[in-house]
Amino acid sequence: MDKKRVAIVGAGLSGLAACKHLLERGCRPAVFEADTVLGGVWAHAPECTRLQTPRPMFQYSDFPWPESVTEVFPDHRQVADYLYAYARHFGVLDCIRFGRRVVGMEYVGVSEQQVAAWEDWAGCGEAFGSGDGEWWLTVADVDGLVEVRIQHICTYTSMVYTVYAPGYTAPLVR
Ligand SMILES: Cc1cc2nc3c(=O)[nH]c(=O)nc-3n(C[C@H](O)[C@H](O)[C@H](O)COP(=O)(O)OP(=O)(O)OC[C@H]3O[C@@H](n4cnc5c(N)ncnc54)[C@H](O)[C@@H]3O)c2cc1C
Repeated sequence: MDKKRVAIVGAGLSGLAACKHLLERGCRPAVFEADTVLGGVWAHAPECTRLQTPRPMFQYSDFPWPESVTEVFPDHRQVADYLYAYARHFGVLDCIRFGRRVVGMEYVGVSEQQVAAWEDWAGCGEAFGSGDGEWWLTVADVDGLVEVRIQHICTYTSMVYTVYAPGYTAPLVR
């Protein structure tokens, strides 16, 4: 049986977790990451940046920090290393397409009335849509623009993202 193809936008800690859980559920996720590294804000934080949340409260429930990290407030490099270790451990790293920025997103194949009836565009965390349509993503890489057609998407770009209607190509904020 064909595995469900899912596009995840962003390889920060949220996108990594989404990818891990989709792999476990038998899906075929691809993480589109604009940057050349994973970790999102932790990849390029100012030198002095440390966690503000105590380490025990800032960890994936299924992946403890290594014993070598003893600081209550690890620095941004330690956080980035922890995220890389997580991605390697669960096979997420192989799913990441680095240097691919999603610049457009369109849902096609259903009527505007159907889409207007969905109430969950504002991002309540629940899946939405009838599943009858298809997402058309426009992805920019060093060679130009590529169109990707896919059944499911998850966006984790640190920003609330809203698509207003099919046929409307909404620019991502970052
Ligand atoms: C300085 C600082 C300190 C923080 N400290 C804490 C803390 O102590 N505790 C806490 O809980 N939270 C903290 N946060 C909040 C932080 O945002 C979260 O910890 C977490 O990093 C958010 O992860 P994320 O995956 O949602 O987003 P991000 O880490 O922002 O990752 C988003 C990813 O999406 C990619 N992306 C964006 N747009 C596109 C696109 N169009 N196409 C492809 N890829 C795209 C980006 O390149 C990035 O890699 C802090 C944030 C900052 C900035």
